[in-house]
Amino acid sequence: MTPVHQRLSNETFFHMVEKMLTVLFVFASNGSGWILQKILWVDLKFAKFSPIRGSSFIELPLCLRNQRYLLNIRNHDDFECFNYCYTAWYHELHGPNLADPSRDIRTQLTNPATYRKPEATKPRGEFSMPMGFHDIHQFEIMNDVQVNVFQFSKGDLLPMYLSNNRNIEPTIDLLLLFNEDVHHYVLINNLIKLVCTVKEKQFTNSLRLCRNCFAFSHSEEQHQVHDDACRNHAPATIKMPSDDKNSFRFKNFKARWFAPFTIYFDFESFLMPVSSCPANPDASSTEVIEQHIPSGFALTLIENGFSTPKEFVIDSSKNCMTNFIKKLHEMAREVYYSKRRFPIYLGQQVPNRNSVVDCWICEEPFGPEDTKVLDHCHHRGDFLGFAHEKCNWIRRTINFTPVIGRNIANYDLHHVCLALREIEPSTTINIIPSTDEKYI
Ligand SMILES: [Zn+2]
Ligand SMILES: [Zn+2]
Repeated sequence: MTPVHQRLSNETFFHMVEKMLTVLFVFASNGSGWILQKILWVDLKFAKFSPIRGSSFIELPLCLRNQRYLLNIRNHDDFECFNYCYTAWYHELHGPNLADPSRDIRTQLTNPATYRKPEATKPRGEFSMPMGFHDIHQFEIMNDVQVNVFQFSKGDLLPMYLSNNRNIEPTIDLLLLFNEDVHHYVLINNLIKLVCTVKEKQFTNSLRLCRNCFAFSHSEEQHQVHDDACRNHAPATIKMPSDDKNSFRFKNFKARWFAPFTIYFDFESFLMPVSSCPANPDASSTEVIEQHIPSGFALTLIENGFSTPKEFVIDSSKNCMTNFIKKLHEMAREVYYSKRRFPIYLGQQVPNRNSVVDCWICEEPFGPEDTKVLDHCHHRGDFLGFAHEKCNWIRRTINFTPVIGRNIANYDLHHVCLALREIEPSTTINIIPSTDEKYI
């Protein structure tokens, strides 16, 4: 969704059109075969958007109230907090220009009158106040500064608006406070020290801060490497989980069990040039210049627990695709008749049932009410361990044979589908295609 201001510029309109055309182009270039002939209509949906604008004084949250790295100017009568922050920042940069140096500096600095003096430096450009985010970029260009805005939420600082002019120095960092419909900018005198205080981190002179994600670096070189990668991403903050939620435990035990048999395959193809006439641009933008012709395959059947393949086939004949389908069928039949069913373990020593304290599947201890059952492999008959009755019920030997192809998402699976359709036309192929040539 694009925010549209009262002044809908040509630039904004063409940006929206360009975005739509880019989406269409990406869709077409994925090989969908669809072409755009004309746009019949465009649906525009509007929603009221109330932009954030910093205006007049709001008290800082209690935990930040005594922060010396924040300057909260108490402008009760106007909406100019952004301008006051700029002027205060300018004073800070060039030395404070106070009316009475003998009086308390802090009181004078937080008084808007300090910045209303005629000699006080005002920013360049006329901007309507309260200052909204959409005007900040223009403000940065006119005043040759970068402005970044942060917010304080749930005890943490978060980035809200980060400048596109990140190579420009100097930098103005602002904190935006919220109070129902009122917003208020507060000047951050020293962002890194403020973040260190909020995050309870020891400040050192070599410490550098990424404004994009609040990650710390311990040298300028380290910071540059981080910044080059981080600035390509949207602003974010790192939030570590609490101590009671900082570990993961594997629970999907039924997915952990092996398949008794697995088939693996791979194809090789020739890339053959195709001679054809140029495509008609009114009908299609695709011109066929090459075609993949399958030249051979390798197919292997692996039985779990054996180090050598049960069967291995290589075929580089002209009919390799037909042979592949036939061989796959043969292997499937072989697997079906090889599936053994050992109802109970035979001949292996089983530990004393009472000495086992943990379920071998979920690794949780047995409770006094739990039924302890003997779990064995239904394919080989091996004793596996004692388990909870429920865990033993969940852990089942896989009753299908996975067929895994190397890099089949592109043309390999396309060959398989074509061959299957040719040899067995009545077979129903269920697939989720990405395009008409590329399958998942
Ligand atoms: Zn970062
Ligand atoms: Zn269990």
